[in-house]
Amino acid sequence: MQAGITWNEFMLTDARRLPRDTEIEADICIIGAGAAGITLAREFVGQPFKVCLVESGGLDFDDETQSLYEGDLVGLPGTPLDASRLRFFGGSTNHWAGVCRPLDADVFEPRSWIPYSGWPITRAELDPYYERAHGVVQIGPYDYDPETWNDALPDFFKLPLIDGRLEPAVFQMSPPTRFGEVYREELVTAPNVETCLYGNVVDIETNDTASSVSRVRVACLEANEFWVKAKVFILATGGIENPRLLLLANKVQTAGLGNAHDAVGRFYMNHPRLDAAWIMLNEPSSPALRPISSVGEIVTRLKVSERTAAAEGIARFAAWIYPAEASGKRPQSEGYKSLRWVLRLIRNGQLSTEILTHLRHVAADLDDVVTDVIAKYSDQPLISIEPEYEQVPNPDSRVLLGADRDALGQNRVQVDWRFTALDKFSLRRSLEIVGEEVGRTGVGRLKIDDWVMNDDLSSFPGEDRWHPAGTTRMSDNPKTGVVDKHCRVHGIENLYVAGGSVFPTIGFANPTLTIVAMTLRLGDHLKTAMA
Ligand SMILES: Cc1cc2nc3c(=O)[nH]c(=O)nc-3n(C[C@H](O)[C@H](O)[C@H](O)COP(=O)(O)OP(=O)(O)OC[C@H]3O[C@@H](n4cnc5c(N)ncnc54)[C@H](O)[C@@H]3O)c2cc1C
Repeated sequence: MQAGITWNEFMLTDARRLPRDTEIEADICIIGAGAAGITLAREFVGQPFKVCLVESGGLDFDDETQSLYEGDLVGLPGTPLDASRLRFFGGSTNHWAGVCRPLDADVFEPRSWIPYSGWPITRAELDPYYERAHGVVQIGPYDYDPETWNDALPDFFKLPLIDGRLEPAVFQMSPPTRFGEVYREELVTAPNVETCLYGNVVDIETNDTASSVSRVRVACLEANEFWVKAKVFILATGGIENPRLLLLANKVQTAGLGNAHDAVGRFYMNHPRLDAAWIMLNEPSSPALRPISSVGEIVTRLKVSERTAAAEGIARFAAWIYPAEASGKRPQSEGYKSLRWVLRLIRNGQLSTEILTHLRHVAADLDDVVTDVIAKYSDQPLISIEPEYEQVPNPDSRVLLGADRDALGQNRVQVDWRFTALDKFSLRRSLEIVGEEVGRTGVGRLKIDDWVMNDDLSSFPGEDRWHPAGTTRMSDNPKTGVVDKHCRVHGIENLYVAGGSVFPTIGFANPTLTIVAMTLRLGDHLKTAMA
């Protein structure tokens, strides 16, 4: 590949041993070896061009590299940024759970009630790639029709409340595929793919007009730096690092590469992780009490149907459902918590004015208190509802560069995660629909947690589900997106982005199957472009 460099027997290079300022030459440079980067590199095995896959970490976890992922959460609470991602070969697939489902077809369509909705591509265009993605993540047939999986559906989904407004959402379970282990040999033995470990891309160098990328600067924690020169570059560093790298590359375009319209880093979306409601079943021996969202060949969630979401003007909603005993959770209304405080204070002989405050809470929340007490002390069975729902695109929800720097001198990120009123309304309304069906069919009674019912957008007793998306979103219009329908950064002829950051909307399904499908599609596009 490059004069002066001895590639080892396997095409695996320890970047820390490269002489300083070495310039590696390749045709295609892929930055990041997670689900997207590894999928793309595999697509190029045996092609008549040279590929350099640059990965920040080694083959195993190390603390020093992982600490490059530290950053600040300045908006809604989320998972710490150095815990929600893994920075070594295989990326976050080294700890993903393997839950897979394509995005529903409506998620690709413009929905008049969801601002900024609509992808430049349809689900039908992505279907062949979804089918191929099934092979990559090692799951069964490309079929999510509940009828097909009827024998494996939990009994809960045979209750009468499944009537059209509520439906089962089938997810298939990957082993889960550890991309870094399963596909390592294929990549390191491919003569045309060079995998460069311990190399952190820290800058993207362009021509004077920032219309073309010439090379990327790569730094090692051991202090040496080198370059990778290529004809085409693909950022595949995940939903938070992709915008970070574009924002850091600010020598020519001072606001960051591809950021002429201030879109890079905006529209940050994730799936919330929280509890929100309970079903108190009328029937103590209800079949619903058998394991529900448990893991087997498939897992099933309860979803509000596409048609109902459109009729109600809400975002898409699905929820994990568990018998309360299995989840170990109990109801927690504010009034009930106050009642427990009052009893505790009385038991401890602490007859202070605090008791009066708590008694006021109990009085104000009497209905919930009675329900919670019945739930706790009767044998009335409970189902816990843990939503995993679609966040609406929101330009104020964003990834920014902070002032703090990492060990390589790069600005760390700040994630300012924000919801809109439509997010809260969609969650509340979806739960109300579940409640209406549960009541109408005599299955039981739904109790929604207090925080869902108020309009305070900052009341959010949860975290994210490690699915960062939207931060380099796809749009035909450069003013409302960073990449075009081929995942190419608007205005830059040879820079592409792969991963959840290109999603314009997130739906309720876990993202990796879609990330892989979109990456396979990008691979086809680049193979044609390179021919
Ligand atoms: C606990 C957990 C459970 C999950 N479970 C599921 C699930 O069940 N289903 C599902 O669909 N998804 C799940 N996910 C999400 C899934 O892991 C991600 O969607 C997927 O890994 C994203 O792929 P990616 O290639 O975009 O990013 P990553 O897999 O994160 O890969 C990014 C790669 O880029 C490298 N990198 C970063 N910066 C640089 C740089 N500057 N230079 C060079 N390399 C760099 C990193 O080291 C990493 O290898 C889960 C995530 C977590 C954390």
